[in-house]
Amino acid sequence: MLSKDLEKALNEQINAELWSAYLYLSMGMDMESKGLGGIANWFKVQFKEEQAHAEIFMNYVNSRGGRVILAPIAAVDTEWPSILAAFEATLAHEKKVTAMINNLYAMAEAEKDYATRSMLTWFVDEQIEEEETAQGYIDKFKLIGNDGMGIYMLDQELGSRTYTAPSPLASE
Ligand code: MG
Repeated sequence: MLSKDLEKALNEQINAELWSAYLYLSMGMDMESKGLGGIANWFKVQFKEEQAHAEIFMNYVNSRGGRVILAPIAAVDTEWPSILAAFEATLAHEKKVTAMINNLYAMAEAEKDYATRSMLTWFVDEQIEEEETAQGYIDKFKLIGNDGMGIYMLDQELGSRTYTAPSPLASE
């Protein structure tokens, strides 16, 4: 059985993952409106991944006899001044998520809730990848600046991203 503290913190994490999904969908819609269909695709895949993260947490809370409470999702920005700004906002947000995951991990450890700690390990690793990917695109978009051909090529590259369910869901 989950402690009440961890149940509450996991519910906050579910809300944060759904907020992340909403944020990336909004970025995708902004890119779409600017004719950047490939970058929009990348953010829409990100949107699906974040929903999957929320689902993993929801499944976990349910499996431990907890209760998932879906709270309202706060509003997100609707426009970013540049592609670079969107990826910088992505990295800043993922750093916050990493801090939340680390905090959950510390809570689980302090409570000697090893099942929760084990479940969180996947997210600890996932966050390394999330930050690394966002940083990678920040570097690339800085490099090309306002070069139209560079933007066109990166839009093509991001357009090739496809969604695959994260392993904790795929193995169910
Ligand atoms: Mg996430």
